[in-house]
Amino acid sequence: MTYTDTYRHQGQRRALVRELRQRGIHDERVLAALAAVPRHLFFEPAFEAHAYQDKAFPIGEGQTISQPYTVAYQTQLLGVQPTDHVLEVGTGSGYQCAVLLKLTPHVESIEFNEVLFARTRHFLAALGAHGAALHCGDGSLGLPERAPFDGILVTAGAPGLPPALLRQLRVGGRLVIPVGDNQTQRMVRVTREGPESFVREEFEVFRFVPLLGASGWRQ
Ligand code: SAH
Repeated sequence: MTYTDTYRHQGQRRALVRELRQRGIHDERVLAALAAVPRHLFFEPAFEAHAYQDKAFPIGEGQTISQPYTVAYQTQLLGVQPTDHVLEVGTGSGYQCAVLLKLTPHVESIEFNEVLFARTRHFLAALGAHGAALHCGDGSLGLPERAPFDGILVTAGAPGLPPALLRQLRVGGRLVIPVGDNQTQRMVRVTREGPESFVREEFEVFRFVPLLGASGWRQ
């Protein structure tokens, strides 16, 4: 499969990164990661014109590719170091996963929806983003066989903090998760400071599709 990333795309991406910087994203590694991932390739060709607007967009199966600002915001809160082992819950289009792969080679991502899982696995392989280990299943339960994680990033809105995700954090690890009702969610970061010690911080309000599964919303 051949993909084109033209000067026009690259210019649009630089403009998007400028916009993100103006909105307060300041982590240079995160900005560089967003500048490096060709978001238009995650869109159907007919919708490519929407790729570099700072907006979420439907990807089928009732799901969306998160807004670039949201991706940058969550990634910045996660504070990924180059040796970190990171789990993303909600692979969706694979865009956030590709951004994480620019920051560490140790990325795992889990998607509940089998259709999206199959499509995105095929697509990321074709794109050459081989680094991530992709899983299909209920990510509200985490991925116990691959734990512990230095970072867990949930890209769907949860009713509360899934206990399994807290357990699967390494000491020093961070869980970034939107928590709220099915309308809006507040971004929460929980840092595991000791085996039984967790510190919770709250940030901006967002709007995500619901996290399903055992510790999510009922299907
Ligand atoms: N990170 C994605 C955004 C995905 S939208 C991107 O960059 O495109 C949220 C995704 O979470 C959807 O694909 C949805 O199917 C998935 N999801 C919802 N509940 C889940 C669960 N319990 N485990 C794993 N994935 C889940």
